[in-house]
Amino acid sequence: MFYKILIANRGEIALRVVRACREMGIASVAVHSTADADAMHVRMADESVCIGPPSAAQSYLSMPAIISACEVTGAQAIHPGYGFLSENAQFVQIVEDHGLAFIGPSAEHIRVMGDKIAAKETMKRLGVPCVPGSEGGVSELSDALEIAGGIGYPVIVKATAGGGGRGMKVARDAEEMERAFLTARAEAKAAFGNDEVYLEKYLERPRHIEVQVFGDGRGGAVHLAERDCSLQRRHQKVLEEAPGPAVTAEERARIGRVCAEAVAELGYSGAGTIEFLYEDGEFYFIEMNTRLQVEHPVTEAIFGVDLVREQIRVAEGYPLSFTQDDLAIHGHAIEVRINAERMPDFAPSPGRITQYHAPGGFGVRMDSAIYDGYVIPPFYDSLIGKLVVHGRDRAEALSRLNRALGELIVDGVDTTIPLFRALLEEEAVRTGDYTIHWLEHWLERQAAA
Ligand code: ADP
Repeated sequence: MFYKILIANRGEIALRVVRACREMGIASVAVHSTADADAMHVRMADESVCIGPPSAAQSYLSMPAIISACEVTGAQAIHPGYGFLSENAQFVQIVEDHGLAFIGPSAEHIRVMGDKIAAKETMKRLGVPCVPGSEGGVSELSDALEIAGGIGYPVIVKATAGGGGRGMKVARDAEEMERAFLTARAEAKAAFGNDEVYLEKYLERPRHIEVQVFGDGRGGAVHLAERDCSLQRRHQKVLEEAPGPAVTAEERARIGRVCAEAVAELGYSGAGTIEFLYEDGEFYFIEMNTRLQVEHPVTEAIFGVDLVREQIRVAEGYPLSFTQDDLAIHGHAIEVRINAERMPDFAPSPGRITQYHAPGGFGVRMDSAIYDGYVIPPFYDSLIGKLVVHGRDRAEALSRLNRALGELIVDGVDTTIPLFRALLEEEAVRTGDYTIHWLEHWLERQAAA
């Protein structure tokens, strides 16, 4: 049993973990940069340690500072949240070398899934359906042209080390291939220090469907159905829901079983997400995230389970607290990401929040670390809250979302609240009939109007 956990993160996710710790009777340690001294996660944790200046590289990404904070406070385990060090295999190794526990999968599983080619090969071997593409990396343009001809255009060139939608380029024919190949490599080199790329068939109208999995680290695993995160801008999710409105019960059972079996076979430990593109009833694996996702609350809502509590329990060595048969879906949940961003260009809008009022009532959850008078620092992600609603069905969840957005007040900075109010007026959003490209096209139409 852990008696003290250090949370190597900030903002709403740090607070999310503090809350789980408190309910479990575990003491929590917050870490923060000098820019976050007044942050809510610092106020709510049992203890806090300043780990460096505002720059994330010198604070939230500083492994020595975080390890020292554990040693100073006597924390036994580290919860990494999402982003920052959550998918850094080297960090996991260092944590373990210091006799501390990492609340997440093994360094080896993080390493394999962090390399997109190795991840795809592994998933293919485990029977998970993948997007047709190159076998491994492609380093010569001539090879790229030949392979693309075999796959059939359009083709997408993707960075092996990719993340955050960077280093991806689409080629519609052989002529476009040269530029796509060279720019994707250059972008990958600049962003990740690794210019290896691979090719995939470019799917024209897919949905983004991701399966939540949980492994006990000893060959046992379950799935918690899927989330649909098709509403994206620049490959970044803005609204997520569960279950997926386009996925049938039969498809859910089939892909869920495939994912749970793969995770069991790996001996994977803790929470993970297997991401797919979904088109015409078929699933195509794109990547696996070896951490808790931003959008995990929609899954918690429909299953009634606390995923952070489960992560902590598994890291403590307990078996999963639910079997596949215990997990039944109740209703429908939707999350919208409230970002401090100015419309229509989504430019960051840091600054002082002059007034904040969180929505409440039946079926409403607001995960946020902001408060009246809080100053959003300009150094980090612009996510300031996640509004999650749960209803008996999708229609009820949508009306609840509309009602809750009407109650939510964030004054002093620009936010994405008006975007969601406008989206709720759209027929495609009301019916759930959209692909991963729908939002970009909608934004273009808004800009032109
Ligand atoms: P990252 O790790 O950078 O987020 P992913 O592989 O998860 O990269 O892809 C991010 C997004 O890019 C997907 O959600 C989808 O919108 C788009 N994408 C990726 N691969 C393809 C593909 N083969 N066809 C069409 N779109 C794709």
